[in-house]
Amino acid sequence: PPTIEVRGLSKTYRSKREGTVLALDDISFTVEEGEFVCIVGPSGCGKSTLLKILAGIVAHSVGTVAVRGKPPSDAQNRLGLVFQAPVLLPWRTVLQNTLLPAQVLGLDPKAAEARAHDLLRMVGLEQFASSYPNELSGGMQQRCSITRALLHDPSILLMDEPFGALDAMTRDTMNLELQRIWRESGKTIFLITHSIPEAVFLADRVLVMSARPGRIVEEIKVDLPRPRD
Ligand code: ADP
Ligand code: ADP
Repeated sequence: PPTIEVRGLSKTYRSKREGTVLALDDISFTVEEGEFVCIVGPSGCGKSTLLKILAGIVAHSVGTVAVRGKPPSDAQNRLGLVFQAPVLLPWRTVLQNTLLPAQVLGLDPKAAEARAHDLLRMVGLEQFASSYPNELSGGMQQRCSITRALLHDPSILLMDEPFGALDAMTRDTMNLELQRIWRESGKTIFLITHSIPEAVFLADRVLVMSARPGRIVEEIKVDLPRPRD
C-alpha cells in the first residue's frame, strides 16, 4: 500500500470573520514509499493545511487520509515535521532541542547523542551545540528544527517551506543535503515550496495546486539526471 493515501479530501474552516472557507476541495493523491513529492501553489491554496492534516495536527472535513495505513495521528512517531518557522524550546540548548525526540520516544541516550552531533555537524551548527535558541539567527534556529526532525530517523518527512527563511546560499546547501539524505536513506519526503524550480530540483513528482478553492490541478513527473557523490 502507498505510504500516504489521500482520497476525496476536503477541508472547511469556520471562522467568525470570514464564515466558512473551503480550504481544500476534493484532493486525491498517493505517495509511494521512498518517493520525494513536492507540492507547489500560490499562497492560500491550502498547502499548509494539507501538511497539517497529514501530520495529524488538523482534522479534515470530508474524505479519507491514511499514513502507513493508519489515521495520521497514529503515525506520528514515524514522522519528522519541519514547519516554516523554527519551533524550539527557548530554555533548552541546541543539543537538547535536537535530542527531544529521543526523550519522547525513549531512544538510547548515548546513540541519540552521537547522532545529534552528526546532524548538527551536517547543518553547520556543531559549534553552537551548547547555545540557546535566542543566541542564534533565525536561519540557524531553523537548521536546529531540521536536526530535531531527523533525530529519530523518521521514515516520512513532512516539510512546510523548510528553507524559505534561509539565505539563498544556505538554502542551496540544505537542498543538496536533503537530496543526499533522501538518496541514502530511502525516506519518503513530502515537501511544500512555492518555488517551481526548487520543486523540480528536489522531487520525483510535483503536485501543482490552485487557490480558491484549493485543488490539485496538475501532476508533473520529474525525470532529471540526479547529481551523484
Ligand atoms: P497555504 O499554505 O497554501 O498558504 P493555508 O493552508 O495556510 O494555505 O490556507 C488555506 C486557506 O485556509 C486560506 O484561505 C486561509 O485563509 C484559510 N485558513 C487557514 N487556516 C485557517 C484557520 N485556522 N481558520 C480559518 N481559515 C484558515
Ligand atoms: P542564517 O543564514 O542562518 O540566518 P545569518 O546570516 O544570520 O545566518 O548568519 C550567518 C553566520 O553568522 C552564521 O552561520 C553564523 O556562523 C554566524 N552567526 C549568526 N548569528 C550568530 C550568533 N548569534 N552567534 C554567533 N555566530 C552567529
